[in-house]
Amino acid sequence: MKKNLRLAREASGSEQMVVVKAGAYGHGLEEVARALTGQDIAFFGVANVGEARRIRNAGVEKPIYLLGPTWAAEREEIVARGWTACLSSMEEARHFNGLAAAAGKRIQVHLAVDTGMGRGGFLTGQLPGLMHALEPLKQLEIEGVGSHLPSADEDPDFTRTQVATFHEILETLGGAQRFKWRHLLNSAGLLDYPRGACNLARPGLMLYGVSPLPARQQQLANVMTLKSRITLLRTLPAGHGVSYGRQFVTTKPTCVATVGIGYGDGYPRHLSGQGADVWIRGQRCPVLGRVTMDQIMVDVSMIPDAAEGDEVEVMGAHIPASEIAQKAGTIAWEIFTGITPRVARQYHGG
Ligand SMILES: *Cc1c(COP(=O)(O)O)cnc(C)c1O
Repeated sequence: MKKNLRLAREASGSEQMVVVKAGAYGHGLEEVARALTGQDIAFFGVANVGEARRIRNAGVEKPIYLLGPTWAAEREEIVARGWTACLSSMEEARHFNGLAAAAGKRIQVHLAVDTGMGRGGFLTGQLPGLMHALEPLKQLEIEGVGSHLPSADEDPDFTRTQVATFHEILETLGGAQRFKWRHLLNSAGLLDYPRGACNLARPGLMLYGVSPLPARQQQLANVMTLKSRITLLRTLPAGHGVSYGRQFVTTKPTCVATVGIGYGDGYPRHLSGQGADVWIRGQRCPVLGRVTMDQIMVDVSMIPDAAEGDEVEVMGAHIPASEIAQKAGTIAWEIFTGITPRVARQYHGG
């Protein structure tokens, strides 16, 4: 991860908010936060207060930023523990201001502005006069302003317009220098677009070794390897069905390995019949038939010395998460976050 963080820093030319929501994209929230505490990181970005608590309970004291709107009942804790929220409405702003006053403190908040994501933030029409309206809320220090890109890896024209809009917004709000932090770019954004007046990037996926832009994939280090083992090895005769629904039937005697992983571990059932491969003894081996809850079957006819107990890389440096995602008809973000608690996590290095 540290190598990927370095690349994010270089490519964005700015400070980093390391996005660790959803259990650090399935990699383990506490472990990732601890592994990166020594790094120069401005914020950890989380989805909700549950994740913020877990970071603090892990003994990590870096600033925490809540990436989305907060529930009213959670705000007292946010104020008390000094986490940074982003505001999407005057109502939220007033509520935070009142809670901060009650706690006898001044708190740092960011403004979220909606430049096209449609998920949160002030709408552009609400921005003229906003700073003036916030002026009386003396307990709030408006320390930053951020927006989010919905299509940085899909629609360059729209994204360029969005970047320009964000800069116009900074002017509407009184100029970039008025805010300590200006942030817009996610992984695809920072890899492909100039930062302009932004001084903070919010990478997620790329830190976990997957580039949303295939052209930049080579520069990233693989982070997660999902492994299992061959639990059974048999030669099935010609004409023998494999797995539920018998969608695959052998046409010749076939050496079939049963591997102890399935959709109950987060290996997507949607990979069934989609030409997925696994990696055994330095070779790609095709998955046969449907993915079951706990097991898959793999053709190992091309590996004469395959043996029960052999390690199987289901996803990792040789079988990229992006390939799994594409064959399963989804995105790498969902593959990572879908790996279930049944999979034992082991951590090496950083
Ligand atoms: C998840 C998220 C990110 C990180 O996005 P990646 O595409 O994984 O880099 C950045 N900003 C916000 C607001 C997010 O919700």
